[in-house]
Formats: sequence, C-alpha cells, structure tokens
Amino acid sequence: MHLCQFDDHRLGLVENGLVRDVTVVLDELPSRRYPFPMGDAFIAGLPMLRERILAAASLAAAIPVPSVRLLSPVANPSKIIGAPVNYQRHLAEVVADPNIHHQNKAHIQAIHQSGLFLKATSSVVGASQGVVIRHVERRTDHEVELAVIIGKRATSVAREQALSFVAGYCIGLDITVRGPEERSFRKSIDTYTVLGPWLVTPDELPYPSALGLSITVNGESRQKANTRDLILGIPELIEFASSFYTLLPGDVLLTGTPEGVGPIVPGDVMHARIDGIGEMVVQVREA
Ligand code: MN
Repeated sequence: MHLCQFDDHRLGLVENGLVRDVTVVLDELPSRRYPFPMGDAFIAGLPMLRERILAAASLAAAIPVPSVRLLSPVANPSKIIGAPVNYQRHLAEVVADPNIHHQNKAHIQAIHQSGLFLKATSSVVGASQGVVIRHVERRTDHEVELAVIIGKRATSVAREQALSFVAGYCIGLDITVRGPEERSFRKSIDTYTVLGPWLVTPDELPYPSALGLSITVNGESRQKANTRDLILGIPELIEFASSFYTLLPGDVLLTGTPEGVGPIVPGDVMHARIDGIGEMVVQVREA
C-alpha cells in the first residue's frame, strides 16, 4: 500500500496517481487519555487497519495527487534517527571539502566510529509544505535518503529479524546547515526533515537494499546513487540503532546520503525520487 497524509491530516490510499480518502478508518484507533503513549498511533495500528483501508478505498472518491497537499506520512514520530556518512563516496567528498566537514572529526570517519544522531521531531514536514530556509547567509544543503519507518517496538534487534520491524519506506530529505556546530543543532531547524510523498509498505518494496535514489535542483542532477552502496544496510542500521535506543512505532531512520550534496537557496525546486516509492517535489522558500 502507498499511504499518504494530506490536507488537514486526512489519510489517503494512493493508487495510479489517485488518492482515496480513507480517513474513516482512523476511528478504529484506540482513544487515549493523557499521558498519550509515545510514538505514532496510526503506524502502530497499521497491521490491524489494513483490510479496513482497502474496504474504505473501494468506496472513496478518487482525487488526483496534484490536487492534495501532502503532509509527512508519519505525524508523530518519537524520534528521527540519522545515519552520518553511510556511503563510501560521500565520505570521500566530506573528507575532501572543508566547507562540509568544518574540521569536525566526527564528520570524517565512517559510521561505525561516529555512531548515529537524532533530529528534532519538530523539523518534520511533508512534500507540499516545503523547506523554509532560516539562515540564508549559511550554506544549507540537500541530502536525499531512503527513510525507514519503524512499525513496532524494537530493542536489541538482530539484523536477521530487523526487517520484520519495518512499517514502510519513504523518501527523506535531511536538510543540513553546514558549520562547526553539533549535527542535531544544524539539522533540526523547522522544515529541515522532509518525509514523503507517502509511505510504501514492505510488501510493495521487497528489496529496499537495491533502490536507485536521486535528487535534482531546478532540473540539475545533484545526487544519484543506489541503496546497495550503503555502508551499513537497513538491517544493520536497525540493529545498531536498537542497540542504543528502543525504537517505537513511527520512528524514522534516515539511512544516510550519497555523494553529491550541495546547497539550496530560496526559490529552488527539488525533485527527489526513489525506485518503488515515487517522486516528490519540494519548494525551497525564505522565512
Ligand atoms: Mn543525512
């Protein structure tokens, strides 16, 4: 299934360029009182909602995708986990360019040494919301990445079982201000995590470890790679992340960006695509 959130947090099933409004199924989710459990209730409930979504879609009117405002397919992730320098050729470009690494040692070693990082969940937006550049005087880069959405609570998961904890995949843009500060500071600005255009469930994406991914800015090709070149693959990343954190339904794992990172400025238009997921168009604006 391709599942999107659109307009005023409506839930959509996407098929052949059309969105079917299946928001009614969210009434099946348990009603909660404070303190609400951490994580995303819809992602946690997805296995139980599957049949209801298909039934609701068969009765719903079809809306063309360009007519809806696409939000993040995950509304309430408890954390966004980032994988730094997880492609060998990106590591080479980081090492070679002081404007990317800023003499920060944690930026010029492979992921095994530097570990993972977290981004603020308040940085998350969907494709139609766009990126708002907060500090126009600073270099701000695009990073296109495969994003993995965790489906159920996971702690100390072995790589052999890791993919059974995945609810789905989407495109992630890990927008980054270059500079000497901590990654979590520079990458957590509002709108600097773009997720979309929708979540694709694993049954429709059985080979996440061999997907072409790319991004263009104003039609110019910037990054073009394949997830088969990840240093730590998806099972290894889930194993690594869950050896430090308990992963919760809706948590997002950004798997790392390939070579070709480069600056964006207000007025730019990004087209990001990943095989088997689709394409999203993201505008860059001024604050
Ligand atoms: Mn990144």
